[in-house]
Amino acid sequence: MAKQDYYEVLGVSKSASQAEIKKGYRKMAIKYHPDKNPDDSSAEEKFKLAAEAYEILSDDNKKARYDQYGHAAFDGPQGGGFGGGGMNMDDIFSQFGDIFGGGFGGGFGGFGGGGGQRQARVKGSNMRIRVKLTLEEIAKGVEKKVKVRRKVQADGVKYKTCSTCNGSGQQMRVTNTILGRMQTATTCGTCQGAGESISSKPNGSDAQGLVVKEETVPINIPAGVTEGVQLKVGGKGNDAPGKNSISGDLLVLIEEIPHEKLKREGTNVHFDLYINFSEAVLGISKEIETVTGKVKIKVDGGTQSGKILRLKGKGLPSIEHYGTGDFLIHINVWTPQELTKDQKRFFEEMKEDENFTPDPKNSDKSFFEKVKDMFS
Ligand SMILES: [Zn+2]
Repeated sequence: MAKQDYYEVLGVSKSASQAEIKKGYRKMAIKYHPDKNPDDSSAEEKFKLAAEAYEILSDDNKKARYDQYGHAAFDGPQGGGFGGGGMNMDDIFSQFGDIFGGGFGGGFGGFGGGGGQRQARVKGSNMRIRVKLTLEEIAKGVEKKVKVRRKVQADGVKYKTCSTCNGSGQQMRVTNTILGRMQTATTCGTCQGAGESISSKPNGSDAQGLVVKEETVPINIPAGVTEGVQLKVGGKGNDAPGKNSISGDLLVLIEEIPHEKLKREGTNVHFDLYINFSEAVLGISKEIETVTGKVKIKVDGGTQSGKILRLKGKGLPSIEHYGTGDFLIHINVWTPQELTKDQKRFFEEMKEDENFTPDPKNSDKSFFEKVKDMFS
């Protein structure tokens, strides 16, 4: 069965703003919330699908990939690193803080109301790393394996029900206000809402039963990323204590290594090609190194300095829009700075020659010229 379109799932148009997407999700999450639809598996499916749609569409990178490739963007190994389908309830509830704001009460969210008692999902802290990429890696997309030192739950930690809150994760507080006595629920200070505390832990683990572990995490970096883009690898940050806790995320900040010869400008890539005077006069074939490999180009005889040759689609893909940029070759004619006696005599003779008189009006004035990629 074909999977429903994420925009349809949230009841918004394809051009919806982030605010509209959030609003759409909020509506669906309330409508299909399990507390409101006990024992209704189709509501639960819709609830999960809405969360999944929001997870994708609220993230600029994932949204761009979804807009371009549809559900296929998150199928198979490529999608693995970013989590696409298959969110579980824990992930969904952990997301709610962002959606409904801190003051989200009334029996929804991670705080158990209604039938099933649900404790707060304590989430571990996020970790941040930087990944440096070459232009060539950015052009094709790349999988980077990074070593991270995460805090993980030590083997053999044992938990007991928190005695302060008796496992509810909440403490009731009675305060006197001008409206009378008010009872408010706050997160339990002893267990931070987890409802449990450590009864025994192995040597070497910290007070929360965590140990530092080095782990290699594969990160799928889509083609066309730009400096400053942040990718998220769910669940690869630090663990939090507790049986029901969820791990933080690994946030990956992209940095671009400046290229020795190429200059990036959005999706276009610029290259300065220096040719000598004779090559400009007679024409020449040259092999050029682009971001996706070598390309053979032909510079016509009589080419002026400053001319730009355009290799269409040989630039960088965009992660925000469709299509791929161009590779632009700027022709620079190198004027000889030293001459032999004979060469000097030759140029003296040519000085007054008609063919050597600048005539910009009749030279090829088209600024850009398409060049065929001879390899393709
Ligand atoms: Zn407690």
